[in-house]
Amino acid sequence: MTEEPGCITRRFLTPAMHDVHALLTARMKALGMMVHTDAAGNLRGLWQPAKGSKQRLILGSHSDTVPHAGAYDGVLGITLALEWVQIAQETGFPLAVEIVAFSEEEGVRFGVPFIGSRAVAGRFDPALLALKDGEGVTVDAAIRAFGLDVARMSEAVADSSAFAFVEVHIEQGPVLEAEDLSVAAVTVFVRIGCQFGFARFVQAPTTTRSSNSPISRGTAIGLLVTTNTLRSVPLSAWRSATR
Ligand SMILES: [Zn+2]
Repeated sequence: MTEEPGCITRRFLTPAMHDVHALLTARMKALGMMVHTDAAGNLRGLWQPAKGSKQRLILGSHSDTVPHAGAYDGVLGITLALEWVQIAQETGFPLAVEIVAFSEEEGVRFGVPFIGSRAVAGRFDPALLALKDGEGVTVDAAIRAFGLDVARMSEAVADSSAFAFVEVHIEQGPVLEAEDLSVAAVTVFVRIGCQFGFARFVQAPTTTRSSNSPISRGTAIGLLVTTNTLRSVPLSAWRSATR
């Protein structure tokens, strides 16, 4: 499911993303999940156990890619989340599980990353709607062309029943191959997207947030993982730093 045959390129709200949504929707519905797409284009599936807490564990990753992407970046976290739901059902996991396939993480189409997770974190700036892609299409127009309602953006915000977010993420590069190694441990993470600064976001008092963004402090900490996408440091850099 790609914009370019022969490689994987899937930008925010393109027809290729529609195709991925259709596939994931079928998988989610087969697991008995309630599925919808929020106004930022994040595909969201909810599994609510019959006798369980309303507290939600959020799992997922991004469904967009960089041009000529690796096969697992982003989708690994989504497909493993689907596996988690199946295991949760089989083992009687007592919490609700929401899978979020974030629509935008890479910033390829509009030059700004994290559009999907900004909406979930209650940090979507309406000024983003005026950004244009290479063809002059605005974010606003792209959202509408995808069949979504921009006016419902506030409904994308994770509410206070979301207590944690866990993302399994792989970043692919040539380092291991070049070093002739089969596995490595990531020991250093670098945050990007500093406008979502850790301290500022986490320390925001819940009481000052509007009713449209009833996100708890605990949720904010969890969402930080996505809004500040973690990037691994090349193994060679790690080695020289730890010598
Ligand atoms: Zn990624």
